Amino acid sequence: MKPSTTTESGSSLRDNWRIKWITLPLFNFFKRITPPMSDTEKDAIDAGTVWWDGELFSGKPNWKKIRQSKPGYLSEEEQGFVDGPVNTLCEMLNDWELNHKDFDLPDSVWQYIKEQGFLSLIIPKEYGGKDFSALAHSEIVMKISTRSVAAAVTVMVPNSLGPGKLILEYGTNEQKNYYLPRLAKGEEIPCFALTSPDAGSDAGSIPDFGIVCKQNYNGEDDVLGVRLTWEKRYITLGPVATLLGLAFKLYDPGHLLGDKESLGITCALIPTSTPGVNIGRRHQPLNIMFMNGPNSGKDVFIPIDWLIGGAARAGQGWRMLMECLADGRSISLPALSTGAGKLACRSVGGYARIRRQFKLPIGRFEGVQEALARIAGATYKMDAARTLTATALDRGEKPSVISAIVKYNLTESMRSTVNDAMDILGGAGICLGPQNIMGRAYQAIPISITVEGANILTRSMIVFGQGAVRSHPYIFQEIEAINSDGSDESLKKFDRALIGHMGYFMSNAYRSFYHALTSSIFVFIGATGKTRRYYQHLTRLSAAFALIADISIMLLGSSLKRKEKISGRLADILSQLYLATAVLKRFEDQGSQKDDLPLLRWVCEDTLFTIQEKMDGLLSNLPVRPVSWIARLLIFPLGRQFSRPSDKLGSAVAEILLSPSKSRDRLSKGMYIPEDLQQQVAKIDDALVKIITAEHIERKVYRELRGIDVGFNGMAGMIDAAVEKEIITQDEAKLLRIAETARSEVIKVDDFSFDFKI
Ligand SMILES: Cc1cc2nc3c(=O)[nH]c(=O)nc-3n(C[C@H](O)[C@H](O)[C@H](O)COP(=O)(O)OP(=O)(O)OC[C@H]3O[C@@H](n4cnc5c(N)ncnc54)[C@H](O)[C@@H]3O)c2cc1C
Repeated sequence: MKPSTTTESGSSLRDNWRIKWITLPLFNFFKRITPPMSDTEKDAIDAGTVWWDGELFSGKPNWKKIRQSKPGYLSEEEQGFVDGPVNTLCEMLNDWELNHKDFDLPDSVWQYIKEQGFLSLIIPKEYGGKDFSALAHSEIVMKISTRSVAAAVTVMVPNSLGPGKLILEYGTNEQKNYYLPRLAKGEEIPCFALTSPDAGSDAGSIPDFGIVCKQNYNGEDDVLGVRLTWEKRYITLGPVATLLGLAFKLYDPGHLLGDKESLGITCALIPTSTPGVNIGRRHQPLNIMFMNGPNSGKDVFIPIDWLIGGAARAGQGWRMLMECLADGRSISLPALSTGAGKLACRSVGGYARIRRQFKLPIGRFEGVQEALARIAGATYKMDAARTLTATALDRGEKPSVISAIVKYNLTESMRSTVNDAMDILGGAGICLGPQNIMGRAYQAIPISITVEGANILTRSMIVFGQGAVRSHPYIFQEIEAINSDGSDESLKKFDRALIGHMGYFMSNAYRSFYHALTSSIFVFIGATGKTRRYYQHLTRLSAAFALIADISIMLLGSSLKRKEKISGRLADILSQLYLATAVLKRFEDQGSQKDDLPLLRWVCEDTLFTIQEKMDGLLSNLPVRPVSWIARLLIFPLGRQFSRPSDKLGSAVAEILLSPSKSRDRLSKGMYIPEDLQQQVAKIDDALVKIITAEHIERKVYRELRGIDVGFNGMAGMIDAAVEKEIITQDEAKLLRIAETARSEVIKVDDFSFDFKI
C-alpha cells in the first residue's frame, strides 16, 4: 500500500477516525477477499450502458423519467417496408414445404430477401443499407416469425451480432467500403462463428487459435498474417455463408505485432472460398430448417488485414462481442418470442371459441380460460418489454443487463405461452402439417432458449451478476477503488462510495419497512388513475429489492457467483420489476384504454405476486438465519400481501381473446394475417365472425331440441330438425350452416399418404 499523504488541513487522511476505524479495515478486508476480475469478466461488465436497471437498483425509481419518454414509432419508410416487402415475403413463404420438403427457403425467397435488403437492416444508407431503427428491425423479425420461424431466423442473424455489426463498429475503412455494400446487396451471406464443441456457454474459453506468422501468400513472400486452426458448431447460416466471421485466440510467439505473446480473443473475416475452410455440412435444429451447421479449418493462413479492425484490434474480440451483444439480444429473440405470443392470442384464442366440446366453445370452460389468460397476459407483457427495450436502443442506450433480462424472460414467456396454446389446441397442435399453427413455434422454443446465452446461465449468472456490479449505484465504484493501487486517492474514493452505500442501505431498509406497513399508500407518484397503485407497490418492492440485494452481497460476497439459486431469484425480481415498468408504460402510451385494463391489472397483479414469492424464497434460503429474520421483518412486516390475479379477472382477460375487438387487435398487432382463406390463420379469423354471428341460433337449437332424438347426422341433422319444427327460420339455418362449414374447416387436421410422400 502506498504511504499516506497529508490532507490540506495538514492531518493525514488515515488519521481521520472514520477512515482509520471503518473505511481502512473494510478496504483491506475487501481487497483480501475480492478475487481479481479476469479480462473477459471485466469486458462483459464494462460493456453497454446502465439505463432503467440503474433506477430499479436505486430503490427509488424515477417514474417521471420513463413515463415522460416518448413512445417509439416507425418512420414512414419503415412502416412502408413492414406493410410492403415484409408482407410480400410472408405471402411467398410456405413454411410446411420449406421445413418438410425443400429443407431450405426456395431460391425465389432467397432472391427476394437479398434484393429487398432484408439482410441490410442495420447497414447505413451510405453503404446501400436500410439503416432501420431497432424498433423497425424488431417489427420485421416479429412479423416474419408469425409466418415462418426459419425465415425469421434467416433474416435476423445477419442483422444481429455478426460480421455486419462488427465491421460497422470496428472495421477498418477498407473493410467497411468493401464489405458493407456487398452485404447490403446480399452479395455476401454472413455468419458468425464463436461456439466450439468444447466451449458453449463458456465462450471465453474457445480452444480455436491463430498464430501470427509470415508466409508466402498469393505469390508474395513474407506476408504478415495469421495461421488459423478451428472447429465450430451450431453456426447459423454457416452452410451457405460466403463470409465467415470467426472468433479465435490469437498468439504472437514471434512478437511480430508487439510485446505480448497471448493477445486474447480476436475476430477475423474469412471468405469461405479460402482454401482449407471446411463449411457446408448441416445440423437439423428441431425441424426448423434454417441453415445451421459446423465448420472448421486447419492451418489456414489469412493476411493480417482480415482481422476485424486490422492488427490494431488484435486481442479486442471479446470486448467487441460483449459491446455488440446488447443490441442483438434486445431485438431478435424478444421479437420472435412476442411473435409466438401474438399468433397464440389471435389464432388459438379464436380456435377456443370455434372448437366446441360438450356443446360449448372450449374457451368457455374455466380450465381453458386459465390458459387463455396466461397467454394474453404474457403476450401483453412481452410486447411491452419488446417495444420499450427497442425504443431505448433507438435512443442510444446499450442496456446490457436489460438485454439479458428481455432475452431470458421473453423466451421463457414464449415457452409457457406456446405450451398453453398447445394444450388448448389438443390434437390439432400435435399433428404437424400446413394446418398446424403452433407446432413449429413449439419446436422453436428450445432454440430461442439456448442461443445468445442459454437461459439457465443468463438467469443465474448474468442478469444479477452483471447487474449488481454494473447497475448498483455504489458497488462498481467500490470494486474499482479496491482494485486500484491502494493510494489515498483510491481510499478516498472507496470512503465516498462506502458512505453513500451505507446511506442507501439505511434508506432502503427504512422505506421498505415503512411502505410495507402502510401498503405503499404514502409513496408519492405523479400518476393518477388506474396505474397509480401499481407504481406505488413497485416503488416499495424496488426498495425491498435493493435492500435484499445488498444483504445477499454482504452475506455471500464473491461466493454469490456460485450461489445461483440466490442470484437467480434476484435476477427474477429485477426482471419482474422491469417487465412491470414496461407494461405500465405501454398501457399509458396506448392512451390508457379501458378495454385493456383487465390485461394491465392481470399482468401487474401477477408480477407483484411473483416478486413477493421470489423474495420469500430468497429470505427462506439466505444463510445466517438471524439476518434473514430481520430482513423479513423489514420487507414483510405484515406478512405476504399480494395474491394472484382473481379468477374473475382471469376470465375477463380470457374473454379478450374469444371475440374480435380492438383490444384483441392491439394484442396481435404486427403479426402476419394472410388474406388467403386457405391459410389456417385466415380461416380462424373468418370462422370466428361467422360462428359468433350464429351462436345465439345455435344456443336456441340446443335448448329447444334438448332430449329430442334428431338422428345421427350431428349438427346438420339438428339444423334440419330445427327448421322442420320451426324453431329457427330458413335464414337462421343458413347462417348456422355457414358457421358450421367454417368450423369444420378450422378443426380439420392434416393427414398424409402412408409413406408421407408429399
Ligand atoms: C440453433 C442454434 C443456432 C446457433 N447459432 C450460433 C451462431 O450463429 N454462432 C455461434 O457462435 N453460436 C451459435 N449457437 C450456439 C449457442 O450460442 C450455444 O448453443 C449456447 O451458447 C449454449 O452452448 P451449448 O449448447 O454448448 O450449451 P452448454 O454450454 O453445454 O450448456 C448446457 C446447459 O448448461 C447451462 N450452463 C452452462 N454453464 C452454466 C453456469 N455457469 N451456470 C448455470 N447454467 C449453466 C446452460 O444454461 C445450458 O442450459 C447456436 C446454437 C443453436 C442451437
